[in-house]
Order: sequence, then C-alpha cells, then structure tokens
Amino acid sequence: MYKFKYHRTSSLNEARSQFGSCDEPRYIAGGMTLIPALNLRLDRPSDVLDIGHLDELRGIQDDGDTISVGATTRHAEVAKSSVVQSKIPALAKLAGGIGDPLVRNRGTIGGSLANNDPSADYPSAVLGLGATVHTDSRTIAADDYFMGAFMTALEEGEIITKISFPVPETAGYGRLAQPASRFPLIGVFVAKTSSGPRVAVTGAGPGVFRVEEMEKALSGNWSAEAIKDIAVNSDEFASDIHASAEYRAAMITVMAGRAINS
Ligand SMILES: Cc1cc2nc3c(=O)[nH]c(=O)nc-3n(C[C@H](O)[C@H](O)[C@H](O)COP(=O)(O)OP(=O)(O)OC[C@H]3O[C@@H](n4cnc5c(N)ncnc54)[C@H](O)[C@@H]3O)c2cc1C
Repeated sequence: MYKFKYHRTSSLNEARSQFGSCDEPRYIAGGMTLIPALNLRLDRPSDVLDIGHLDELRGIQDDGDTISVGATTRHAEVAKSSVVQSKIPALAKLAGGIGDPLVRNRGTIGGSLANNDPSADYPSAVLGLGATVHTDSRTIAADDYFMGAFMTALEEGEIITKISFPVPETAGYGRLAQPASRFPLIGVFVAKTSSGPRVAVTGAGPGVFRVEEMEKALSGNWSAEAIKDIAVNSDEFASDIHASAEYRAAMITVMAGRAINS
C-alpha cells in the first residue's frame, strides 16, 4: 500500500471542500472496495477522506410511497430494517445476500453505487425499482445513472447522499452466485411499479441493464410463464472459466423466473 494522508471529515460540506483542496483525493465509506484496491496497489490517492461515520448520510426513512436509504447505510442495516422488510422485502433480501458478515457490516450502499462493479447486487435493485440517486448537488434517475462497468453519472468529487426507492406493488430478486467470489454471476431484479414492470440484470455484461422484452411480456401477465421463452442476446456478455456468455444469457431467464416466484 502506498502512503496517503487520512482525514476523518466532520461533515458533508467539509468532505466536499477538502476534496477540492487535495491532489488525488478519494472518499472512503466502508472501505470494502477501496482498501483492497489500495492493498493491491491498484490506486494511489494522495488523501483519503472518510465519510463513512457521517450521521447525516446514514439511516433509513419511510416516506410513504418511497423509502430513503442514506449513502453510508451498511448492507446489514438495510437487510435488518423493518421498514425495508415490510415495504420492499426483495431489497432487504438482496442486501442480506451481499458478501459475508464482515462485508455487510462495513460496506455501504453509496460505496457500492459509486463503484458500480458490473457484478454488484445493488445496481439491479436501483435500476429495477426505478430509484433516484441523490447527491450533494442534484438528483439522478436510475435510468441515467449507470454508464457501464465502474462508470456512473457522478462528477468528480460528487457525493451520493441517499437513494430513494419507490415502493413497488411487488418485487423479487433471483441471484446465482459466482462460486469463487460469491458476487452474482447473474442477478435479476424484477418489480411491478406504478409505471409498469421493470427487469434489471447484473453480472452478465459490462454493467447493469434492463430487459425490455421481458418487461413488455410481464405487463400483460405477471408470471414466470410469460417470460420463460424469452432468450436474451448474449453478444456483449462475458465468457470466462465460470460461465460462457450463452450460459449467462440462459440464467437470466431462469433467475428472472425465480425472482417473479420469490
Ligand atoms: C470479500 C468481498 C465480497 C463482496 N461481495 C459482494 C457481493 O456479493 N455483492 C456486492 O454487490 N458487493 C460485494 N462486495 C463489495 C461490497 O458490497 C462493497 O461494500 C461495495 O462495493 C463498496 O462499498 P464501501 O462502502 O465499502 O465503499 P468504499 O470501498 O469505501 O468506496 C468505494 C468507492 O466508492 C466511493 N464512494 C464511497 N462512498 C461514496 C459516496 N457516498 N459518494 C460518492 N463516492 C463514494 C469511494 O471513493 C470509492 O471510490 C464484496 C466486497 C468484498 C471485499
């Protein structure tokens, strides 16, 4: 690990202003992605600005038709939240399946979304539910937020403050774990929302994406039967020792069916 200066920020405003005055700053929340990257010398920040303890970025709020989850809320807190469990149980289930207890007790929803690993779980829920990402300067609709693997609409130094999830009529999550990392090899989040069905897939390709053909089929018939013959094009999917692109495509249909039945 290269040397860097560590700053424990005392507020969102201080974090933002310190970011502007450092050479190569990085925020840190749970450290579950950044620390391994530093350990492996994949990144070399001059300064690490800790925002993980800021209460103003943390917590879960029931806003009636939406649930707000603060950016530094841990995965374990989302999984155990009675609000999330009662209003969007599929989101609680998703959070409870991330990594292991250490990762769930340290990792944050904001860190996961800022990092946007193409195999991360949360992006599928954010896109599948049509959530809104709030930052220190604006709001970004899920459909405009994800820009491909490890790329998002965030500007340099912009901080995610919270995510608001509209409460769906129903939702489900189907997940096939990659046997080595336990990240999803395929994860499919389905939701029956006020604007129609949404189906979002993580793990298969270079970033989370929606499957319009499944969404259309589900709008007339919310059942696994309605999508069982839909084959997703695998041209842009990864092929590696864990699964071929064709297998990943086939598992999208299977996991979508399980998500609907869950
Ligand atoms: C062993 C292991 C297993 C894992 N398994 C899974 C899994 O199964 N599924 C899954 O989805 N993930 C998994 N993860 C990743 C985990 O969910 C991380 O918590 C997450 O990717 C990053 O969250 P963090 O709070 O730790 O972010 P950090 O490591 O602190 O930060 C990550 C990046 O996000 C930036 N950042 C952090 N917070 C903000 C913010 N509020 N605004 C703007 N930028 C911010 C940082 O600057 C940094 O660039 C795993 C990680 C490990 C180590």
